[in-house]
Amino acid sequence: MNSLMLNTDGVQIPQLGFGVWQIPNDQAEQAVRTAFEVGYRHIDTAAAYGNEEGVGRAVRSAGLPREKVFVTTKLWNGDHGRAEQAFDESLARLGLDYVDLFLIHWPVPRQDKYVQAWKALEKIYRDGRAKAIGTSNFTVQTLTRLMDETDITPSINQIELHPYLQQREMRAFHEANGILTEAWSPLGQGKGLLDDPALRVLSDKYGKTPAQIVLRWHLQLGNVVIPKSATPSRIAENFKVFDFILDTEDMAAIGALNQGKRIGPDPDTFNMT
Ligand code: NAD
Repeated sequence: MNSLMLNTDGVQIPQLGFGVWQIPNDQAEQAVRTAFEVGYRHIDTAAAYGNEEGVGRAVRSAGLPREKVFVTTKLWNGDHGRAEQAFDESLARLGLDYVDLFLIHWPVPRQDKYVQAWKALEKIYRDGRAKAIGTSNFTVQTLTRLMDETDITPSINQIELHPYLQQREMRAFHEANGILTEAWSPLGQGKGLLDDPALRVLSDKYGKTPAQIVLRWHLQLGNVVIPKSATPSRIAENFKVFDFILDTEDMAAIGALNQGKRIGPDPDTFNMT
């Protein structure tokens, strides 16, 4: 399993993690436990997912040393003005005394509180209660403002990214600023993308499923990737991506699938609280 270095004090993030959006709280403990058994050591949750308690129970009962597990959670949109309290509430639900990564979930530009929220994240980081801090769904514009007006550059930006939305501009911007790119909905939420004929050809060629081909493409691009599944066989399947390499022309074939189309909301306008 590969890990990537974050721009903060030698913190490493396992490149492949397990996403738990839409897994109910009472099922999250079992799903995360299955993920640990398969070998995942990185879990991506959020206050908004309503399953931090289940995730925390799995982390605490897994029998793994805490420092061997990487836990991410996120600050919800309505909490930008009370980020420290919201962080404490997340920690309490998780039952942990620190998280590995704390993200601002969405910038919500119309609310215009993300700079204030980031300053609270900087304090949480300096206190050692989050080993690293970052953003999610930030754009070139919102990241640039954050870097101009605050002290710490985000370590990572988690954005929608899959073969139909390849985010080349964001990836280049991240790279130029020492920010890792983390891909959400890396499988395009399983809809349509995994039936793409080009992926079926590669699936036959490598003897791997379309989901494994897509995850391998992310890893070779250098993305952190957090596929979700509640099905044990798929949780295992999505982890078996370290035993083959896509060659250059097949990486290019997937590169040619870009449609620039989002499945999820537009970060400039999304303001659900
Ligand atoms: P995903 O691309 O991981 O797709 C998940 C879906 O794909 C599953 O529900 C299942 O239907 C299907 N699937 C999974 N494995 C499969 C396999 N091997 N074969 C066939 N189908 C398979 O979508 P996601 O859940 O939206 O994203 C993953 C994670 O990213 C989330 O769980 C969450 O942690 C994170 N996320 C973050 C944000 C954000 O705003 N920061 C938004 C959405 C998701």
